[in-house]
Amino acid sequence: MLDNKSNKHFDSRRGFGGLAAANELRQNLSSEVKITVIDKKDYFMMDLVKLWILNGTREFEYSKKPLQAITKKGIDFINEEIIEINPQSKTITTTSKELSYDYLIIALGVDLHQNKFQVFQITD
Ligand SMILES: Cc1cc2nc3c(=O)[nH]c(=O)nc-3n(C[C@H](O)[C@H](O)[C@H](O)COP(=O)(O)OP(=O)(O)OC[C@H]3O[C@@H](n4cnc5c(N)ncnc54)[C@H](O)[C@@H]3O)c2cc1C
Repeated sequence: MLDNKSNKHFDSRRGFGGLAAANELRQNLSSEVKITVIDKKDYFMMDLVKLWILNGTREFEYSKKPLQAITKKGIDFINEEIIEINPQSKTITTTSKELSYDYLIIALGVDLHQNKFQVFQITD
């Protein structure tokens, strides 16, 4: 979320895309512009690390980076799930609040529904 002096916001979710966008914007915009990242997770982990976890060379708990650390760079972080985005009113509804924005970056990633693929089902 991006916020200038008139309380305007720019929002991005905090996966790979949201993180890259927020860092890039922070480096290139005035400190008067407020950037807020919203993510239902409180940590970031590079997806490729999952492969190392699977083969046993890394552990999940030691592969996570706390998203709160981004606040040290002048980026706000809200650890909540977004349940609605209204582009007409430029508002975002999370589990506990409604926020307004001027500019919004949506980087949702994917939600897997493996049970919908026959090939992933384990049978006897
Ligand atoms: C095993 C593996 C290896 C990979 N290796 C590479 C590689 O080598 N090079 C490469 O370029 N790409 C690689 N990728 C792909 C890359 O990780 C993805 O393309 C990238 O993470 C997608 O970025 P994203 O920001 O769209 O989504 P994500 O990084 O998945 O981030 C989405 C974020 O949105 C949050 N979110 C979702 N819904 C909500 C909601 N309702 N409210 C709040 N927050 C929400 C999630 O918690 C998440 O943090 C790999 C992927 C995998 C699985």
